[in-house]
Amino acid sequence: MPIRLLSCCYLGAPIERQTGPLTRAGLLLFFAGIIRRSAVLAAAVVLGTTAGPAETAALPVTEIASGIFVHNGVQEEASAANEDAIANIGFIIGDEAVAVIDPGGSFAEGSALRAAIRTRTDQPIRYVILTHVHPDHIFGAAAFRDDHPDFVGHAKLPGALAQRGDYYVRRLHSALGDEASGTEIVVPTVLVSDRLDLDLGHRRLTLRAHGPAHTDNDLTIFDQKTRTLWLADLLFVDRIPVIDGSLVGWLEQLDELTAIPADRAVPGHGPVSVPWPAAAEPERRYLEAVAHDTRAAIRSGIGIANAHRQVANSERGNWLLFDDYHPRNVTASYKELEWE
Ligand SMILES: [Zn+2]
Repeated sequence: MPIRLLSCCYLGAPIERQTGPLTRAGLLLFFAGIIRRSAVLAAAVVLGTTAGPAETAALPVTEIASGIFVHNGVQEEASAANEDAIANIGFIIGDEAVAVIDPGGSFAEGSALRAAIRTRTDQPIRYVILTHVHPDHIFGAAAFRDDHPDFVGHAKLPGALAQRGDYYVRRLHSALGDEASGTEIVVPTVLVSDRLDLDLGHRRLTLRAHGPAHTDNDLTIFDQKTRTLWLADLLFVDRIPVIDGSLVGWLEQLDELTAIPADRAVPGHGPVSVPWPAAAEPERRYLEAVAHDTRAAIRSGIGIANAHRQVANSERGNWLLFDDYHPRNVTASYKELEWE
């Protein structure tokens, strides 16, 4: 596995990061979204529905609970050309303000999300919550700059953006050309290290910063009014989870999250709304299988390069994109668990 030494001005001393499978996992999510969005734009041109900058077409959203709107990332079968993994993103409307939860994968998608908000309310967009560093979730942030919101992120998000942000932006611009125009890194202006309540006017959102799990900078949002738990990529449904933080940590976070008495959850990938905590069980089963079998492989002396062949293969039929992400999940887990 290629290892590259990365320097990070936020974290002080240089740290070693995986840049092979790790980066590929992020890029699969990233470019799958690009391909899908390009297809949507092409379809819009054919249908004559493309709007100019002054009247951007609104992103389709579903109201999953009173005042909570989610755009559903399409799940497609994996292929060489299109491993679609665009994120579920959306917004919550209070009596006095709006909070965006993940502005999407590009300036264009963020603009379309903003247009969807403006078809429903004139309330100010006071908060743009960035649930974690992955570009399919947060690269639309610049579309909300003129609203002057607080951009809210995990205390570790600035460091993660410093490590990967420029690389992600370069790849976006090389892949999209003019379609990427306007997309740039927006650093959070409000950091969450534990919990933070946001008031939208008779509507309180409780944000929680989690320990390393899907990434090391995961935020979740709980809407008290409707008991809706927005989990972003701490919950994958149907699509294989991507371990980019800590396997052990993710299982620990799931124990805490599934104890929250929510009526529904919003996964980062999958349906726009799922029952909670029942919807966590397939993800937990996969992560536990990876942990169990990887520990067994380490004990048996199976090398890191071959471990994925022995680990959690019973899960292959249960997840989209299994063969694209599972080997790097096992590699990351092996590196984490071999020091136990
Ligand atoms: Zn993610």
